[in-house]
Amino acid sequence: EKKKYLISACLAGHKCRFDGQAKPVSKIQKLVERGEAVLVCPEVDGGLSTPRPASEIVTEDGKIKVVTKTGRDVTDEFRKGAQVSLEKARQHGASVAILKAKSPSCGYGKIYDGTFSGKLVDGNGLTADLLSENGLSIYSELNFESEGDIGESQG
Ligand code: SF4
Repeated sequence: EKKKYLISACLAGHKCRFDGQAKPVSKIQKLVERGEAVLVCPEVDGGLSTPRPASEIVTEDGKIKVVTKTGRDVTDEFRKGAQVSLEKARQHGASVAILKAKSPSCGYGKIYDGTFSGKLVDGNGLTADLLSENGLSIYSELNFESEGDIGESQG
């Protein structure tokens, strides 16, 4: 079934965040109610449980890794989750992604710097990066309303 939007499940109200909470945004939930969106949570799709320790992206010897605050390397899970998101986007022909800002999976443009101190650096979460490389337009809950026809596509 064709769906225009690929959306972070936590923005649609699913309690899949690392802390067991959701970050619902009502205009985004409307897109889901109208059947225009496919939901993904790359961290859950990659095999991680909820709640889970917070994770951030670090660069070590020029290579990107994802580690939890408790020191576990979860790069493989994050990469798997990114692949699942890309497959779902392809399956539904989604061309626009609305992804949770700053997440090591879903963040786009700015992410946490890897020191678990709340500082941001330029960069993309693994899923946002893969979707962007594969041609999707990436928005977050902070800027999705600038995406042309959101909210006007169905009468
Ligand atoms: Fe939300 Fe993405 Fe984190 Fe899942 S991985 S909880 S969809 S920000």
